[in-house]
Amino acid sequence: MPYCYKRIKATQWFKLGDHKDVRPYRMLGAVGEICDRPRCQRPAAEHGMYGDVIASERVCPGDWIVEDWSRTAWVLSPASFAELYALERGEARDG
Ligand SMILES: [Zn+2]
Repeated sequence: MPYCYKRIKATQWFKLGDHKDVRPYRMLGAVGEICDRPRCQRPAAEHGMYGDVIASERVCPGDWIVEDWSRTAWVLSPASFAELYALERGEARDG
């Protein structure tokens, strides 16, 4: 479910289909490989990739995809998102 703030739109990603620009994640290693981020360590198959062929970023379940007013977008961990934006939730609105 997207949240719209004054300056950003943020969508928390849990699975494919949660955000239109997240593609299936292709990990180089074998099937069953585990994410190397200590905060995650989930199977590769539960991940996504945000971005294009030139620059893409792994998305772990629970990560936030944040877009600003210029359509620039980035991926934030839940902890980073909370630190940067959680206090603005009271100002959330549509559009
Ligand atoms: Zn992960």
